[in-house]
Amino acid sequence: MVTEIRVEKVETSKINTVNFEHLPFGKIFTDHMFECDFVNGEWQQPVIKPYGPLQLDPSARVFHYGQAVFEGMKAYKDDNDNILLFRPHENYLRINISSKRLAIPEFPEDYFFEGLKTLLHLEKDWIKKGRGNSLYIRPFAIASEGAISASPAENYKFMIICSPAQSYYEEEVRVLFSEKYSRSADGGVGFAKAAGNYGAQFYPTSLAQKQGFQQIIWTDASTHEYLEEAGTMNIFFRIGDTLITAPSNDRILDGVTRKCVIQLAEDNNMEVEIRRVRVAEIKEAAKNGTLQEIFGSGTAAVINPIAGFGHGGETFELPKLENSYASFFKEKLMDIQYNTGVDDIHGWCYKV
Ligand SMILES: *Cc1c(COP(=O)(O)O)cnc(C)c1O
Repeated sequence: MVTEIRVEKVETSKINTVNFEHLPFGKIFTDHMFECDFVNGEWQQPVIKPYGPLQLDPSARVFHYGQAVFEGMKAYKDDNDNILLFRPHENYLRINISSKRLAIPEFPEDYFFEGLKTLLHLEKDWIKKGRGNSLYIRPFAIASEGAISASPAENYKFMIICSPAQSYYEEEVRVLFSEKYSRSADGGVGFAKAAGNYGAQFYPTSLAQKQGFQQIIWTDASTHEYLEEAGTMNIFFRIGDTLITAPSNDRILDGVTRKCVIQLAEDNNMEVEIRRVRVAEIKEAAKNGTLQEIFGSGTAAVINPIAGFGHGGETFELPKLENSYASFFKEKLMDIQYNTGVDDIHGWCYKV
């Protein structure tokens, strides 16, 4: 058990050099970082220290075999200066699910929460009030042992870094339904936030971007007939008034935002179907005018409406709705995230 995390503070904060009105996503980091090493079969005493480069052996397995996992979460500030997290236990559980699949030792719960709380209190000035502002939190674990035999490492590092963020993906997003490339396969690591899942998407995504689409919706690897998810978001379709999303499984990441959307839909007596979604069905609904919306769900953008999609050389535009489900869910979720006086009946908001 840790009771207190050792903290080495920076001499001067760099916060005054940061323009919080124009934050490029994920490029600016706060003053401190959390670091914990796994050696001799144990997680050692964690420290929080000035943010800065790591020294790693070039033979560290993370560079050669991609033995690395991460999480993405956000801290918010309410009008009373409380620091808030959103369902952080889910992220804690999920990084250990990811770690297990990548043969990385699981990280202790008290280290995770003590580390996170200490770090967030230290960086509280980096969390700006106001809807849309947040501190993006990136916990990750890497195989740090210098040894290039293709086997799990003996030594690991678990770290948490933080980056101030404004609302994300404001521009219109058009997506390409994948016909050739795949993100994940049965029995693979699609359900894990494993580093390699993301690196492998960059090339196909760059091809899609050349065709005018910002992102890809991945389809099942064996037939490419079923829609699964986007690169960092789960995907919802609204046909008529029914909300449809694919079931999470070993190819699809079990998103926290996705689970919340399903819960909110049920709380509000909306029709929800959790089932496989055929590409042909969505194209048909787009053609006959019953496809109302497509939107992504994920921590970074919360809810990301999709303006149109392409498949098989055809492109489709989605209607611009006044009262979209996407904006309904986004507002509901942000009310809880920013603690703006709503009933948080499921206890999702977590005061740090
Ligand atoms: C992180 C992620 C999501 C969204 O998960 P949230 O918990 O809602 O942030 C969806 N799909 C993939 C592939 C992801 O990496």
